[in-house]
Amino acid sequence: MQIVVFNTLGRRREVFEPFKPRMVNMYTCGPTPYDYTHIGHARTFASFDAIKRYLNLRGYSVFHVQNITDIDDKIIDRAREYGRSWESVVEEYMKDYMSVLEALNIRVDVHPRVTSHISDIIEFIQGLIDKGYAYVAESGSVYFEVDKFPDYGRLSGSTSREAWRQEEEFIREKKSPYDFALWKAAKPGEPSWESPWGRGRPGWHIECSVMSTKYLGQAIDIHGGGADLVFPHHENERAQSEALLGRRPWVKYWLHTSYLTIKGEKMSKSLGNIIPVKEALTRWSPGALRLWLLSSHYRSNLDYNEDSMAQVDRLYSRLRDIASRVVRRLEKTEPTYWLNKRDLEVLEELRGVHLSWHSDLSDDFNFGSAMRWVWELTNIYYRELEASESQALLLYTYRVLSEFNKVYAVLDDIIEAPKTLGLEDKLLELLVQVRGELRARKMYDLSDYIRNSLSKLGIKLLDYKDRTEWVKEG
Ligand SMILES: [Zn+2]
Repeated sequence: MQIVVFNTLGRRREVFEPFKPRMVNMYTCGPTPYDYTHIGHARTFASFDAIKRYLNLRGYSVFHVQNITDIDDKIIDRAREYGRSWESVVEEYMKDYMSVLEALNIRVDVHPRVTSHISDIIEFIQGLIDKGYAYVAESGSVYFEVDKFPDYGRLSGSTSREAWRQEEEFIREKKSPYDFALWKAAKPGEPSWESPWGRGRPGWHIECSVMSTKYLGQAIDIHGGGADLVFPHHENERAQSEALLGRRPWVKYWLHTSYLTIKGEKMSKSLGNIIPVKEALTRWSPGALRLWLLSSHYRSNLDYNEDSMAQVDRLYSRLRDIASRVVRRLEKTEPTYWLNKRDLEVLEELRGVHLSWHSDLSDDFNFGSAMRWVWELTNIYYRELEASESQALLLYTYRVLSEFNKVYAVLDDIIEAPKTLGLEDKLLELLVQVRGELRARKMYDLSDYIRNSLSKLGIKLLDYKDRTEWVKEG
């Protein structure tokens, strides 16, 4: 079953074929930590996490980078508003963000922070200047010259130069109203870094071009983010990267998540209806919230209201209930030698659910439709399987649940319980710790005695600077 994705670039459905077979490079735009992570952000992060997990399930190895914009106007403004340092603002909200990822079981391979990549950013900007795509203004700010990049506007689908206007505050020193800043000259009292153009800090868009290519190379399969990032952020990223790298496409598939609304209204500060994840988690369990975030197509709006949350919460309970029952019962059932007519019909139903779920997710990751099959599986279980003794049917149910969990990741503790350490391993850990303590106290005869004795038992100790690991040989 081939996977089809809707590519924002060109606004069409395309068969998913990464640059390298089976390997997928994915970059998603992460947070600017100047406030608590809200459920709208979480929706985007959870969607791309689930997209990645589905691709993993289908045999792709996905490497996922999601940046942290830890220097930005919003952070500086917030620090001023609170009378605090910008670093302490970043630290507080970054901690919140990381705890949201943890709670919602969202995994990312690299979380690059802008302030750790200033020299990479400067090098990238210098490259754009050298190639004639960027210019240094009188203030020491550097701008991308949009007129030099003929393909500008294609990602957002806008050819109107009027619609490209941005960063009006710098209009006096820009060559045209739609040029945008790559490097912002330092203003008094603002954080800044040394550069060939004087002290300053990176513009917002350049960081993602730099950090994505640094970790994923010059050919990226999926670039994702919220729909509000298409213009100007992603349009600008694309212009910068394709201009410098001289290759097209730099990104093969652009995917964008739609908006999250609250009781039908857009979330906004003025309406006072922004819901931080930590607040939602006082009402709902992390698993239920994650499942709900994946309950509609990522390109459809998702509305936060009591009814839809309560409904998914119910599904979450049922899912956990049947997973526990299936796991428990599988240990007790006898092998199946024969299926009766009813069993065969149920098996056919299970296969239908399994296949339909895959076909919905293969169709541009349609989480909304796919969720119906999760409901259906729980229905089949309560209707048919609770009373059934057929190991074959329970095994099939287990397999489907296990695949569901590869994407929804809300049954890890039931389906993929981590292997707990046995007594032997615990005792070994203890010996290694004692030996470390002896070494710290320079009691080498005893620590060597432990090492040699373990070695005779076929256990080799490997000493690193700050820790010791052990391997069982043979
Ligand atoms: Zn970005």
